[in-house]
Amino acid sequence: MAADVLQRVADQVYRVVDRYVNVYVLDLGKIVLVDTGTKKAGPTIRAGLKEIGKEPEDVAVLLLTHHHVDHIGTAAAWQRDARAQVTLTAIDAPAAAGHERRRTHGLTPRTKVVAALMGVFVPLMRTPPVTADRRLEGGETLDVAGWPIDVIPAPGHTLGSCAYYARRAGLLFAGDAVNGRAGTPEPPVLAEDPAAAIASYRKLVDLHAPVLLPGHGSVVRGA
Ligand SMILES: [Zn+2]
Repeated sequence: MAADVLQRVADQVYRVVDRYVNVYVLDLGKIVLVDTGTKKAGPTIRAGLKEIGKEPEDVAVLLLTHHHVDHIGTAAAWQRDARAQVTLTAIDAPAAAGHERRRTHGLTPRTKVVAALMGVFVPLMRTPPVTADRRLEGGETLDVAGWPIDVIPAPGHTLGSCAYYARRAGLLFAGDAVNGRAGTPEPPVLAEDPAAAIASYRKLVDLHAPVLLPGHGSVVRGA
């Protein structure tokens, strides 16, 4: 029997791993996705929805944490096929729509090389661009299918990165503003603005969210 695609992380909240990136599925009657994986994540996410008896058309809202291709990969497809509403900060929206190129810096010797390679290869990846339906300023509280979700600006990894905090449920969806690859929270190793990335990382960790859900790596509890 195939392993389950959905890993339950909290009531009504699941994690889907698309290769190296996390997609979070919130079953709030309607389906909310926090980030959408790479452009090849569609079949994996659909298999996950099936496990909770949902159809692709049930995907109603996409909360995107930033414009990177491994987070917005299937956003345009959900928007087109399920009429899902795409939510992203106003600062990152032009980059996600393909209207703006950004320069990424590495924070360590190794990631300086990675950043240089990304400058070469990411433009070749041809991820479908997506136009935000709702552009966030940061600081607002969204009503997402009845859940209040705070939009917390977390600039640095990208200039318009944000985190989504479902405070009542104690869930902080941090995107890549917090790196979870080591199993404990760490600052991002790639950033459009390194100094801001460190400050945003500290700000998010200082929220002491009971559950921290990063864009990469494992879910961190009680950090
Ligand atoms: Zn990223």
